[in-house]
Amino acid sequence: MSYKIETKCVQGGYTPKNGEPRQIPIIQSTTFKYESSPEMAKLFDLEASGYFYSRLQNPTCDFVAGKICEMEGGSAAMLTSSGQAASFYAVFNIASCGDHVVASSAIYGGTYNLFAVTMSRMGIEFTFVSPDASEEELNAAFRPNTKAVFGETVANPALNVLDIEKFAKVAHSHGVPLIIDNTFATPVNCRPIEWGADIVTHSTTKYMDGHGAAVGGCIVDSGKFDWTKYPEKFAGLCTPDDSYHGVTYTERFGLAGAYITKATAQLMRDLGSVQSPQSAFLLNMGLESLHVRMKRHCENALAVATFLKNDDRIEWVRYPSLEGDKYYDLAQKYMPNGSCGVVSFGVKGGRAAAEKFMAGLKLAAIETHVADARTCCLHPASATHRQMTDAELEAAGVSPDLVRFSCGIENADDLIADISQALDNI
Ligand SMILES: *Cc1c(COP(=O)(O)O)cnc(C)c1O
Repeated sequence: MSYKIETKCVQGGYTPKNGEPRQIPIIQSTTFKYESSPEMAKLFDLEASGYFYSRLQNPTCDFVAGKICEMEGGSAAMLTSSGQAASFYAVFNIASCGDHVVASSAIYGGTYNLFAVTMSRMGIEFTFVSPDASEEELNAAFRPNTKAVFGETVANPALNVLDIEKFAKVAHSHGVPLIIDNTFATPVNCRPIEWGADIVTHSTTKYMDGHGAAVGGCIVDSGKFDWTKYPEKFAGLCTPDDSYHGVTYTERFGLAGAYITKATAQLMRDLGSVQSPQSAFLLNMGLESLHVRMKRHCENALAVATFLKNDDRIEWVRYPSLEGDKYYDLAQKYMPNGSCGVVSFGVKGGRAAAEKFMAGLKLAAIETHVADARTCCLHPASATHRQMTDAELEAAGVSPDLVRFSCGIENADDLIADISQALDNI
């Protein structure tokens, strides 16, 4: 039986048997008991599936990963301690020292640093391409050692919408998978696998949790990318892993399980960025209402964006689901029911006016966070990017007047009234 996304949000991943808890149990245990050493040895050899240590797998985390897997239409999934860990594992699982990755330049700042600084120091080279690049421009970015393409459905904070089909087509023509960070859209609004993406990552810290309660991440594999067509390029998946008794992931676990099993058995084993069962429980509570909240986030954001567009105290507005936005057509194609709750805009009067605007807000809280049930707001030029000059800000794609407004699920009229009185305050 195949359920709709709303039903998967509520019921996916966990089906209790007779007399079992209705809510996902929090298995707050680091370790699991066995009757004999040989029984446990089978688990270590990946010959039987089961739990032995929560750094590798924990039932609570697996229930929740299973739910997100169903929501994205994947074949296997794993939770990670944060979105950063998910992005790192997703790429590092198939690219290592001497390899190359093509990434959209319009991605979350933390991911950009991870790629351009930390992973570059590990010997993985990244070429950043415009999210609006043509097929020819994308083709030109590939090298013989390219292992993956990476982009965001809706970029944080630039709010570009990625043409997933185009990126998937080009990635596949070069024999590499497309990895999509689907944090802002969530699988309620867009399921990248349906458009050709091979692997999907999330910062579950954002809408999925939705209540500012738990940092977390997730990786979902579609199971559709055929690693065995390129056994030399993806040797880690297609040849024996000495650190796991010579298991060959694609042979033992098939295309459906190879990628996530390797990421768990190798990367999680060695790097340990595990999500706690307690956090996974909180995440699941968020997922149960994700479809209800996303609808309201998007309605509020559209109402706020429409108000801003018609207000002459505002210089410009960016919201992909707003008619006339540069990304409106792509947003309608990939996310006809709404994109996300984040709107960005410029206040007339530049950096100084934006600072006064921020100071006047009463309901919207000043936070670096986004995608929360409570409306929050950031002026990067006076917060996260405050060390930069106006010229440096422009070069980084963050104009000095840019305000990032993350609409919560409060009443839209109250949000608009708050914005309006703060604009009066300038
Ligand atoms: C926040 C964010 C991340 C990083 O996630 P953390 O949970 O903060 O580590 C990655 N990608 C996107 C799009 C984000 O918004």
